[in-house]
Amino acid sequence: MQATPTLRNRFPQTVEEFRKEFHSETISQHFLFYKRWPRGFECPYCNWVNEEQQPAKTIICSHCGHPTSITTNTIMHGTKKPLSEWLVSIWWLASTDGGHSAKDLQRLLQLSSYQTAWTWLQKLRMAMAVADNKPCRGTVELCDSTISLGGDNRGEEHILAAAEIIMPSGITGRIKMQPFNDLSNDTVTHFLAKHVATGSSLVVPENIAYQGIDRNSYITVTGSESATTFRIEQIIASFELWLHKIHRGGVANKHLQLYLDEFCFRSNSAMLSDSEAVFNLLLSGVLAQKSRSYKNLTSTSATE
Ligand SMILES: [Zn+2]
Repeated sequence: MQATPTLRNRFPQTVEEFRKEFHSETISQHFLFYKRWPRGFECPYCNWVNEEQQPAKTIICSHCGHPTSITTNTIMHGTKKPLSEWLVSIWWLASTDGGHSAKDLQRLLQLSSYQTAWTWLQKLRMAMAVADNKPCRGTVELCDSTISLGGDNRGEEHILAAAEIIMPSGITGRIKMQPFNDLSNDTVTHFLAKHVATGSSLVVPENIAYQGIDRNSYITVTGSESATTFRIEQIIASFELWLHKIHRGGVANKHLQLYLDEFCFRSNSAMLSDSEAVFNLLLSGVLAQKSRSYKNLTSTSATE
């Protein structure tokens, strides 16, 4: 059995360097094979492990006979595009600051279809949510605020957010955000269960929705209104600015969670050591995420 591959030289700093490193489909295939199955090929149908299996485009399980490819059951499931193009997209998202629109990705990959670029980008945002799965913990501020989605969208969207406070410096650590319609005790409870580790100390505003938090799971301190909301309001306002800057035409509210996931991934992964670590984190999400078809992704056409 071979060890997980590493890039031969220093981590590529430009897209040209990256393309040079992954200049063939075979190299991309081998790289992804050992990233997905570092302890040997594991059949996704019967879980049989074959440590002797060599990388191949299609692998026939020696136990159950099912054919599998590197992309089976990942967000790349069923792709007809070269694997190297997926790797370039992952590098590009992990290595460049800010955020990107589908038009940018269409240009990078020279895709004829805007729809393909838009779908890839949404799938990669799903991978970010899967990869960025550590909950906030320690001292955590919890609050909500509102944003506008820009473009033709009228009205406000409500966002619930959690932010770690790193002691003793007081700087912001990991963040998590989610849209909501109705700020109730249930909304807060579900958000905490998903995004904040039990045992954490929560600083919450006086709003009644935050007063029913389970005291057996969290230590809750009600802060003064202005002090508690300031940090979260700043984070949500930064997200709104980022959204309007990159997606000038606005985004549909049904896709808002994906944009929040990208923003949180970017903010949280900024604490990693370098862009190679961010690349590996995003790649772990790409290889772990179950496939969702474009139909599941949206019932209407792309909006950005
Ligand atoms: Zn099998």
